[in-house]
Amino acid sequence: MDYSKVFNAAIDRLHEEGRYRVFIDILRNKGAFPNARCFAGHNGPKPITVWCSNDYLGMGQHPKVIAAMEEALHDVGAGSGGTRNIGGNTHYHVDLEHELADLHGKESALLFTSGYISNEATLSTLGKILPGCVIFSDELNHASMIAGIRNSGCEKQVWRHNDLEHLEELLKAEDPATPKLIAFESVYSMDADVAPITEICDLADKYNAITYCDEVHAVGMYGPRGGGITDRDAVAERVTIIEGTLGKAFGVMGGYIAADKVIVDVIRSYAPGFIFTTSLSPVLVSGVLASVRHLKQSSEERDAQHAAAAFLKKSFADAGLPVMPSVTHIVPLMIGDPIKAKRISDTLLAEYGVYVQPINFPTVPRGTERLRFTPGPNHTEAMMTELTAALCEIWERLDLRKAA
Ligand SMILES: *Cc1c(COP(=O)(O)O)cnc(C)c1O
Repeated sequence: MDYSKVFNAAIDRLHEEGRYRVFIDILRNKGAFPNARCFAGHNGPKPITVWCSNDYLGMGQHPKVIAAMEEALHDVGAGSGGTRNIGGNTHYHVDLEHELADLHGKESALLFTSGYISNEATLSTLGKILPGCVIFSDELNHASMIAGIRNSGCEKQVWRHNDLEHLEELLKAEDPATPKLIAFESVYSMDADVAPITEICDLADKYNAITYCDEVHAVGMYGPRGGGITDRDAVAERVTIIEGTLGKAFGVMGGYIAADKVIVDVIRSYAPGFIFTTSLSPVLVSGVLASVRHLKQSSEERDAQHAAAAFLKKSFADAGLPVMPSVTHIVPLMIGDPIKAKRISDTLLAEYGVYVQPINFPTVPRGTERLRFTPGPNHTEAMMTELTAALCEIWERLDLRKAA
């Protein structure tokens, strides 16, 4: 076996398809988000504006978050020093789990080192604990949910995206005695749409299923206290398990689930992805605590984000750019071709100091490659108007199609 030939061929395939991933090397400027410096090449760092960050509300640079992290670092040092079971269960972790349980109106919550791991660990463990469980998974569910479902070893039924009739058809076809779990997201971050959560819970009741909702792209941003779409729509109580990240709108790092005490206890006691890993640094947890507490009582950031998203959607639509319909804070432009998407992204960065990453397969299906903009409270109307003008110039130059 010529190993290097196989590895090189694997990389060559990505180049041929135009979806070889190039990471842009940046530093964000604290206190001046979305301004950053880009290290792509020649003459030292170049100033750019970030348009694709998942630090949706700029909380990663919020003075309260920074102060809380500095204080924790000063008080208790850098790391937690262990797993939760062996020395790494700091008081910050305990406090944050209470705070998150309260955010979602649940009895308990459990922290993980990332949202990815919270999905993988929870779904794989649930599926192993429930004998003969069938998992019903929305076709657009995130890779981390898919990994968890696969690792559970359960039978999986995939329902067409947000299609309640299809979900019911699949639920109905199962034996009523079979344990069933319905897994879905609230906000789908690539398509910018929202799941019909109330109706999914109605079906879960009708067919005696439990529900698992990934609120990663909603926590912090929706609902009067930032509890996500389930908070906004007052359905949190009906969803069995709510999962979220601490790395996107909360601006730091980590993941979690919130649910009944006994379910959280099962995951805490059985999930390898929770048990066999060093707990999050108390410095990170302290920052998250400040962020969650702030966003529970402040809607200023949420309101400004929704206003910015509405402005950018309108600006793109008025200019005839192919903005995808969005009922969320996410503003995707459909390109439909990986090479064109990369070309536009490269031109924006090189000539306009605009950073937006092209989104390719397997994050989205082939032929639906797109640019995904995430305007937030710190993107000004002037920045958005300039961005629209830059895109229009590029559209003309590359002879791209506009909406009719
Ligand atoms: C980003 C993401 C995750 C993973 O969260 P991390 O904290 O970044 O690991 C999970 N689910 C969805 C839908 C995501 O987009």
